[in-house]
Amino acid sequence: MSAKTSADRAAWIQEFIRGFVEESTENSLRNPSSEKAFTIPLVGFSRGDDPLYESYKDHVGPFYMTPWEVFTLTFRDFGVKASELTVISWILPQTDATKADNRKKTRFPSERWARARVFGEQVNVKLREHVVSMLKFEGYQAVAPIVTPQFSIRISPRYGLASTWSERHAAYASGLGTFGLCDGLITAVGKAMRTGSVVARMKIPPTKRPYSDHREYCLFFSKGICGKCISRCPAGAITEAGKDKSLCFAHLFPATVEYVKSHYGFDGYACGLCQTGVPCESKIPTAEDVQPD
Ligand code: SF4
Ligand code: SF4
Repeated sequence: MSAKTSADRAAWIQEFIRGFVEESTENSLRNPSSEKAFTIPLVGFSRGDDPLYESYKDHVGPFYMTPWEVFTLTFRDFGVKASELTVISWILPQTDATKADNRKKTRFPSERWARARVFGEQVNVKLREHVVSMLKFEGYQAVAPIVTPQFSIRISPRYGLASTWSERHAAYASGLGTFGLCDGLITAVGKAMRTGSVVARMKIPPTKRPYSDHREYCLFFSKGICGKCISRCPAGAITEAGKDKSLCFAHLFPATVEYVKSHYGFDGYACGLCQTGVPCESKIPTAEDVQPD
């Protein structure tokens, strides 16, 4: 398939990602009935020279990679301009069954949620690989930042544990959502999702960001109400001051790892209680979505 104009290229990539999620047998929770891990994805695009990427570096730390740095470190082509690059970002929504199961949980994740965290992320990795391969086949250089050797976890002076690339921040830049009190990204299909991205040497019109503030969709920040994710967290990691990553981490490791292994029989950590059973689980919430306690 060839794609001539930038609009063609956007539609072509959206169709490719959607096709993978809807048709590939790789999109599986790997349970006995091979249920799909994710439903219909959202796809957005942002420019490689979007100033937001430099601002992330300013906020998080000098180790945070811009799209240009990811690209040039991969291809050793320092002549490429940031404006020649596009960040392709996607949202993989959890299924209704996965969300319904995790909604009932109060301390440890449901089996479906744990499968979506472990095997679903493997689906996400496959999707990154397929997008990169497809683009390469069509003559475009592309790389998935989180599968590069440069991807690592560091300590940010301002935010503590932080990675050298954030899929959620790429999605925010690509018009796909804004951040909630619990740090999750609230998208048009809610916060119960996984996200991924690829940096490609191609021009595509950026997706319009339908928000002016990075916390616009969270009711706590926009209206001073809700805070439902606070009581959903079994670790006390979420307060009105935001999420304490170290408390979250201390619950994930080793408690959820042991739980997943002993109850579901596979290796991996998972939680996601703050992503389910909350007004922003499956949509951009409104005040009417907040149930009284
Ligand atoms: S549950 Fe409420 S306070 Fe928490 S992120 Fe969602 S909208 Fe914001
Ligand atoms: S992932 Fe779990 S432990 Fe971490 S903040 Fe969310 S609910 Fe709390």
